[in-house]
Amino acid sequence: MRGDIERFIPLARALLGGADFDDGQLRSLLADLQAADVPQSYALEAVRTEAGAHLRRFVTAAIVDDNDVTRGTIDTFRARVALLEIPDAVSTEMLVRLERGHRLTEVRRGHLPTAPPSEVILDSDERCHLHVSCHYERQLTRRVSALAGDLLFTSTKLRFVGYGDGWELSWHKILNVDADADRAIEVVATQRRGTGRYYLHDAEYVATVGRTLARMAKRQLVGRPDTIDTAAVPQHVKSAVYQRDSGRCCECGARSYLEFDHVIPRSKGGATSVNNLQLLCRRCNLRKGDRL
Ligand SMILES: [Zn+2]
Repeated sequence: MRGDIERFIPLARALLGGADFDDGQLRSLLADLQAADVPQSYALEAVRTEAGAHLRRFVTAAIVDDNDVTRGTIDTFRARVALLEIPDAVSTEMLVRLERGHRLTEVRRGHLPTAPPSEVILDSDERCHLHVSCHYERQLTRRVSALAGDLLFTSTKLRFVGYGDGWELSWHKILNVDADADRAIEVVATQRRGTGRYYLHDAEYVATVGRTLARMAKRQLVGRPDTIDTAAVPQHVKSAVYQRDSGRCCECGARSYLEFDHVIPRSKGGATSVNNLQLLCRRCNLRKGDRL
């Protein structure tokens, strides 16, 4: 038994430290031990440190550089935690990071959150996706302009409702929304009013929602157009998209042969939502399909 474990440890370590870990290979090593009457949990206990490091690398690689974290990524992680018999106390924090990566991925794909109703009056075609309290600051030549208030991200604009002052900025005018050390978002716009730093909670998430809304407003989310299946789009979504695009093709302005196009394709997880749909005429839609 001692000899079996001693053979297992270096093999398992190499496997856990390698770039292409294979669940099956570890399973077969464990099966060999089982055949030699060595309990699996006893063997895994011997490589617990390496197993933990392996999982931490898995999580880091999954969430680096705005990688897509899919449900599949999380399922693979969970299966490996079970295989390696990693205690919850160790894996929970890693799972939280993966879940967060998944949430950011979903936002980037156009699955936006919905903010609860508030007292701020919105335009009739406007839906609120995010409502947080914040502290606004902008460096002026001689002083800092500072203001506390509420920040709202709606389908059409960024709204700041401060105590005594406020502004709105259409997403078309917003060049970038960046997270600054997770304490603030930095809004860069083509107009000065509203440009600056908004200190708030969870800046990375807020910035991701803002960037997605700005890209959607400018139709910059690229993707292969879906096969047209308007039956899958609910009527109230169709009419909201039609109203917003004024019944014209977003590319050429044509008014006939219009189709509902998913900006981020459904095959890539794109939502069937007002923000992720646009009107295209059949000709532009086909051309978009050829191009990609
Ligand atoms: Zn067109």
